[in-house]
Amino acid sequence: ESEQLVKNLNSVLREHGLEREVRAQITGCFGFCEKGPIVKVHPDNVFYVEVKADDAREIIERHVLEGAPVERLLFEEPSVNARVQRQSDISFYGKQMRIALRNCGFINPESIEEYLANQGYQALGTALTDMTPEEVCLLIKESGLRGRGGGGFPTGVKWDIARAQAADQKYIICNADEGDPGAFMDRAIMEGDPHSVIEAMAIGGYAIGASKGLVYIRAEYPLAIQRLETALEQARNCGLLGANILGRGFGFDIEIKLGAGAFVCGEETALIRSMEGKRGEPTTKPPFPAEKGYWGKPSNVNNVETLANIPSIVLRGAGWYRGIGTEKSKGTKVFALAGKISNVGLVEVPLGTTLREIIYDIGGGIRNGRRFKAVQTGGPSGGCIPARFLDTPIDFESLSAIGSMMGSGGMIVLSEDDCMVNLAKFYLEFTMDESCGKCTSCRVGSKRMHEILERITQGKGVPEDMATLRTLAATIKDTALCGLGQTAPNPVLSTLEYFEDEYMAHVNEGR
Ligand code: SF4
Repeated sequence: ESEQLVKNLNSVLREHGLEREVRAQITGCFGFCEKGPIVKVHPDNVFYVEVKADDAREIIERHVLEGAPVERLLFEEPSVNARVQRQSDISFYGKQMRIALRNCGFINPESIEEYLANQGYQALGTALTDMTPEEVCLLIKESGLRGRGGGGFPTGVKWDIARAQAADQKYIICNADEGDPGAFMDRAIMEGDPHSVIEAMAIGGYAIGASKGLVYIRAEYPLAIQRLETALEQARNCGLLGANILGRGFGFDIEIKLGAGAFVCGEETALIRSMEGKRGEPTTKPPFPAEKGYWGKPSNVNNVETLANIPSIVLRGAGWYRGIGTEKSKGTKVFALAGKISNVGLVEVPLGTTLREIIYDIGGGIRNGRRFKAVQTGGPSGGCIPARFLDTPIDFESLSAIGSMMGSGGMIVLSEDDCMVNLAKFYLEFTMDESCGKCTSCRVGSKRMHEILERITQGKGVPEDMATLRTLAATIKDTALCGLGQTAPNPVLSTLEYFEDEYMAHVNEGR
């Protein structure tokens, strides 16, 4: 629909001889998936929602030619009970702060000119011209940026460890594997602003002393791959990648490696093995990739969203970034808001924003007036958070403290109609299927836990099943090799912790 809409807009513009003055073009995701396709008219700053391809004529003839906004396509803002014209007047955007998503929905992702016109590659120029690699690492350390893929490890520290390694070849790797069900923030960044990832990788390459970058991306993301390829070609043609970038004596280029969509390949050692053409299985650490990574060379792996923050930090400074967020979790986080929520979409908020603000102020509350039951954060590795924690400010530590985790940013909202045991079973089924099978506890233990959940939901469970689930979960957490296995029991443990009554209701049903 969006592609046809752009074609129709341009065709009506041509009909009126306006093609030189006005241009309709694609952008990346605005985040407000619930209300797409979206058309934003500049410089008027008018925001249209749920636009159909057939609405193109009215937008051009009424709005562009006559200067009268098309009322029926404006968003109806519930908080004021009226249609509003500007994006900033919509409560979905009110509490958001877009750093990683700064260009998504704003520039044409297929145009390097637009990226350049919006401070694109200025951070790379600054780093190469005014800073030593040590200074770049220090800046990122001081900013407090932590890995957004789930681990939360300080990015600057990671860069510094890789920088300190002596080697003839190092690599900077972008983890674009994004395998959590319901998570699509990395895809949105790559589709909407591919140059920011490329620029950040070049800065990271300079900081750690790597001349080569690799993007490991799942083959199921064809548009993201196509836009990255286009952006890479454009950057090479402009001398922003290649043997001597900006004449500063630094050579760097990026290669794309396609993954086949295995969740475990999001784990960095499995990812590296997969890129080497081997079976995607995690390996023991140490050695860490920073010491011995891709083909045995020091490698630094960063997630897409982590990288998308880098250019802004270089341009605006560590102090600016440190000023956003909580004491230990700085900056913003992108969440994929889904489930029984009114405003499904992609949101970026300062860390420290509460769950209530995200679910009610931004998400518009629960659909169809139903009651909130829980929110699942962190995908298959995370947990379910009940209503009593709605006022928890979100950061890495607070989510762990209540039995969940930040993960990569999936946020599934559940209503009174959802069964928490079924939900736990769904996530366990996912991790069971995605286990690489290397460790017995993960391979067999998750299967045994799943069998018990299956029995319980069929009304064939017994009260002792709860204790067995907890014992199995503890064993898996203690003995699994990688994060997939270590966190696989979390959805079961958190639902047992907060919703054991629902497990017991299934057990009692069958008696
Ligand atoms: Fe494979 Fe599971 Fe072991 Fe990770 S914990 S290495 S996914 S078997």
